[in-house]
Amino acid sequence: MKITVIGTGYVGLVTGACLADLGNAVVGVDKDEEKIARLNRGESPIYEVGLPELLARNLERNLTFTTDTREAVERSEIVFITVGTPQGEDGSADMTYVLEAAGEIAEAINGYKIIVNKSTMPVGSTRLVERVIRERAGREEFDVVSNPEFLREGTAVRDFMHPDRIVIGTDSQRAAGVMAELYRPLNAPLFITDPASAEMIKYASNAFLATKVSFINAIANICEAVHADVKEVALGMGYDRRIGFEFLRSGPGFGGSCFPKDCRALIDIARRHGYHFYLLEGVMRVNQEQMALMVKKVKGKLGDLKGKNVAAWGLAFKANTDDVRESPALEIVRMLMEEGARVRAYDPQAMENARQALPQLECAESALEAVRDADILVLLTDWEEFKMQDFQKVRELMRGREILDTRNCLEPISIRRLGFDYEGVGR
Ligand code: NAD
Repeated sequence: MKITVIGTGYVGLVTGACLADLGNAVVGVDKDEEKIARLNRGESPIYEVGLPELLARNLERNLTFTTDTREAVERSEIVFITVGTPQGEDGSADMTYVLEAAGEIAEAINGYKIIVNKSTMPVGSTRLVERVIRERAGREEFDVVSNPEFLREGTAVRDFMHPDRIVIGTDSQRAAGVMAELYRPLNAPLFITDPASAEMIKYASNAFLATKVSFINAIANICEAVHADVKEVALGMGYDRRIGFEFLRSGPGFGGSCFPKDCRALIDIARRHGYHFYLLEGVMRVNQEQMALMVKKVKGKLGDLKGKNVAAWGLAFKANTDDVRESPALEIVRMLMEEGARVRAYDPQAMENARQALPQLECAESALEAVRDADILVLLTDWEEFKMQDFQKVRELMRGREILDTRNCLEPISIRRLGFDYEGVGR
């Protein structure tokens, strides 16, 4: 099929590259000229496992990139909207980019097309995009469907190619048929529902996962007080199939470009419809306090942080991505700096993005370089690289012997044996 994907960010680029790999003719559109220039040179503007190979295999065959929305839309049967829906000032999802894209589609529409809302958009957005296009598109035929994306950064290509389910929200049989055909090669459960329910599924799923994270973090904090080990507790809980093992890892709190903003947007959606979502507000509050708690732990170990050297391992919001949007790691680093600590950070992929978000950040060339003369090592992102370090060497390079493992990813017994004073979260 002939497809346009508007917005070549984490979701759009992966969507476009995967659909091209499945044999479709895909045009990726972005208004960011530099991004498009890099893509046309075969460079991926983001770090995502498997993406460079997909780009190399499909570029100039099934996959092209342009800044010209009109031409791309005119030639396509399906147009995906994958632009950002960042948090607005009042917590609601900012629909500016979506409405802009919808307007551009309306200008170019020339015959039946399916417009796919893949970005995470508030309930009612399918109808809204439909209205915007209808106002300008005259009598042209089209359908707008909701098709929320569930991929995770770090495993985005695999998640796109092997989804747990594909959700399609539409009242149009014609559109449902085309979408089912498009996704048929993925061989995944297809859940076709009405647009509002599809839109709600995305928010409810993210809010539920965020709730699991805040829940286990709250349990972790109680575990510390009662001398239980949250890793054991989570494992014991996970065997219950009603609960499951996933998303029960305690740590510094959730972050990234989705969970925090989507939770706030859902709280806002509820509020606009007269429901006070106390539960989700609590989830967000636990999350914010969890980051502050990590700073408190560092102060508990070092006292006043003025003039203290802190080595920070990790800046990305999780391993295997270069994304630092709402990263708890970066937020904790920022709070430590505010307390007067001299932080030297290292991350395998996220340092460039982190420096843009926090220009005064001092970065090291390697994990070992970061710990030189440090009073404490704070592990903030669970990259494999950190687990594999030579901790004997780390011990020799550091001035102090404190380790705060906010991801519970080191083995406390062997670390303590090397002379470290180890602390995790909830253990
Ligand atoms: P992103 O910020 O990485 O990418 C958005 C891109 O859209 C940018 O490159 C921007 O330049 C481009 N853009 C904006 N307006 C445009 C326009 N009118 N024409 C062409 N290009 C335009 O965003 P993302 O992380 O890919 O997220 C996109 C959407 O997908 C969001 O709604 C997000 O909530 C949702 N989502 C994200 C993830 C994730 O893991 N990142 C997962 C599931 C869903």
